[in-house]
Amino acid sequence: MIALEKDLFLMLKEAAPKGRILTGAPLSDFTSFRTGGPADFVAVPSDEAELRNIILLAKANEIPYYIIGNGTNLLVSDDGFRGIVVVIKEGKADISYEERDGEVLVKAHAGAPLTKVAYDAARRGLAGFEFAAGIPGSVGGAVFMNAGAYGGEIKDVIVSARVMDAEGNIFDMDRDGLDLSYRHSAVGEKGLVVLEAVFALKRGDTDAILAQISELNAKRREKQPLEYPSAGSTFKRPEGYFAGKLIEEAGLKGYSVGDACVSEKHCGFVINKGRATSSDIIKLIREVSDRVYRNSGVRLEPEVRMIGFD
Ligand SMILES: Cc1cc2nc3c(=O)[nH]c(=O)nc-3n(C[C@H](O)[C@H](O)[C@H](O)COP(=O)(O)OP(=O)(O)OC[C@H]3O[C@@H](n4cnc5c(N)ncnc54)[C@H](O)[C@@H]3O)c2cc1C
Repeated sequence: MIALEKDLFLMLKEAAPKGRILTGAPLSDFTSFRTGGPADFVAVPSDEAELRNIILLAKANEIPYYIIGNGTNLLVSDDGFRGIVVVIKEGKADISYEERDGEVLVKAHAGAPLTKVAYDAARRGLAGFEFAAGIPGSVGGAVFMNAGAYGGEIKDVIVSARVMDAEGNIFDMDRDGLDLSYRHSAVGEKGLVVLEAVFALKRGDTDAILAQISELNAKRREKQPLEYPSAGSTFKRPEGYFAGKLIEEAGLKGYSVGDACVSEKHCGFVINKGRATSSDIIKLIREVSDRVYRNSGVRLEPEVRMIGFD
């Protein structure tokens, strides 16, 4: 087994010579919940060719792999992940701009932080991405999730995404092909990796755009427990309801399992008060979902993506 692991480490090194390969790294270092056990391997490819090599290597050796971005919507089991976690990091030339018919097309690398895309666009007087300035994920994770906030979502601004499939083929998908809806995309369904996304933004006034971003971020600071590790809203919004309100009505404000706690500031957030484990968090998620169901008849579904659980 040790020899096998050593072989695989060397093979990964060869597949991604300029990237980073870690063995047994705790995934708590890669998630905003700050929980999660070790992955057999964490690979951070430096470019698309290395990413393709890693995916093909995993496939040829029947080793499971999981793509992550900024880890802000993930709950990883305390046992970690048996296989390769591939981290899509920000590239060097990660954002470019092109004028087209009164709009500006913004092309961003999948690893670019949404906050960076939003602030760069704002400083150039480009409107339409303000909603994303406070979402702590990467462009790739945001396309996968069709991330959204305050009435805006990726679906509203995306033109296309460049993706890689499990065979290493690279191609473009347009907005329709991406099939974006509430916290859903074809990227997830088809097991694709987002490499880049193109957004269409409109010319606007820099000061007004920056003021809008400040206002939305102030709202976040006021309403959300940003001082604690979390993965944002833990549950999807059930149609016609608000998850946080249903949780509060079920008497679960502040309810905790170990250091995993329903935030008193915003019941839709499960927070890590310090030493929570993923096992505490998942127990809390299940308990909240069951109690809300008993109280209201509405079944809450997690928005957070789970890794390494049965
Ligand atoms: C404090 C806080 C506030 C938040 N507020 C919001 C909010 O307002 N609105 C909102 O929608 N979300 C919010 N989130 C959740 C999260 O930031 C978003 O879901 C974000 O889009 C996740 O991006 P990520 O890069 O962190 O993805 P990860 O958490 O790393 O991954 C999420 C999913 O995307 C997949 N993925 C990631 N990168 C790629 C890629 N390049 N190609 C293919 N698949 C990929 C992963 O496999 C995984 O299934 C919040 C989170 C926190 C911690």
